[in-house]
Amino acid sequence: MTDLLITNGRLLDPSQDLDGEMDIAIDEGEIIEIAPSIDPSTADRVIDARGLIVTPGLIDIHTHVAAGVRKASAEDMMGDVDATGVHAGVTTVLDAGSTGAYNIGGFVNFIAPNALTRTYALLNVGTMGVARAPEVRDAEDIDIEAGIAALQARPDVILGVKARMVSPGIKTLGIELPKKAKEIADKADTGGFLMVHVGDIMGEDPVAAELAPQLLSEVLTAGDVVTHSLSFQVGALLNGGNLLDEAKAARERGVIFDVGVGRANFSFESAKRVMDQGLVPDTVSSDLTQTSRHAGPTHSLVECMAKMMALGVSLEDVVRMATSRPAEVLGIDDETGTLAVGYDADVTLLEAVGGDFLFRDTVGDTHTGSMALRPVSAVRAGQVMPIDFGPRPWGWLPEEA
Ligand SMILES: [Zn+2]
Repeated sequence: MTDLLITNGRLLDPSQDLDGEMDIAIDEGEIIEIAPSIDPSTADRVIDARGLIVTPGLIDIHTHVAAGVRKASAEDMMGDVDATGVHAGVTTVLDAGSTGAYNIGGFVNFIAPNALTRTYALLNVGTMGVARAPEVRDAEDIDIEAGIAALQARPDVILGVKARMVSPGIKTLGIELPKKAKEIADKADTGGFLMVHVGDIMGEDPVAAELAPQLLSEVLTAGDVVTHSLSFQVGALLNGGNLLDEAKAARERGVIFDVGVGRANFSFESAKRVMDQGLVPDTVSSDLTQTSRHAGPTHSLVECMAKMMALGVSLEDVVRMATSRPAEVLGIDDETGTLAVGYDADVTLLEAVGGDFLFRDTVGDTHTGSMALRPVSAVRAGQVMPIDFGPRPWGWLPEEA
């Protein structure tokens, strides 16, 4: 007998170019068979996924889930790791720099090991992370040796370094700010990557726009990640409405572009401009905190996926952007991000709900869409996880138009 069988679902796995009705058998935490029809009497537990989409477990590579190691105030609180993760249909999360060299110990020792969700973190280049935002004011807020030590101590959880191109650090340090973050990742020599937040949400300073081309051409290398790729903020990828040539060249070199919807870094207008000029992001992520989960305009990763579909990205592409592609970026594609036989049984069951939905961006504009995604179940390493009620008073779906 196998542990679990998921039957009758529409299996959508971009990593294998699979889209069709298939059954999946799971045993001892691994996927052991995929076939058009598997006898249900061979399994201890059967999930009937008729009418549902079965995808590799969703991966959110920009979250803030350092709840409990940051501030006690209810304002701008970090999210709970499993409320952001498995209970929202997301089997893997990356905390994007909520903590730095002096407080990331709380994350790696108390949050990650106690989470049901597969949980990773990036080390903020600022020693205290965003517990003291803006986390980098001058060189005193960066401790390269302590950062290297953190990455080397826990390369199983800390996958790289995060830097935010925001004031005042970009004024006092200029391009040295991301260069110091890159230095930590390189000198640690643990295979870590650099994620940079573009768009100066703190100051709208013209220096952010001056630094963007230099950041893209001189600092970032293949495998590094630009988050907030569809931001309207100064210092992001648009200059006077035109996509920076350096962004196109960086993509050619293998730099990754992530959405990172967030509370202040996404507008429908800038998204259309960036994508119309040929840069459709590699990965979709939420930048979710506890605050945005409730107050929006970003309530969940599945809502971010639906937002991308409202902008014309296909269901298959948006699933790729939340499964196989982020698995490659994190270097965990030998374990998850696919429903292939032999891999960890990380699976998400989604309902595609048709309707007339209203999406909001961070500048107050709205956009309608005809499809939303509702998480129905998540399986993490073979264990079936319950989905919670959802972030809205009525559950998971976006507002009705
Ligand atoms: Zn963030």
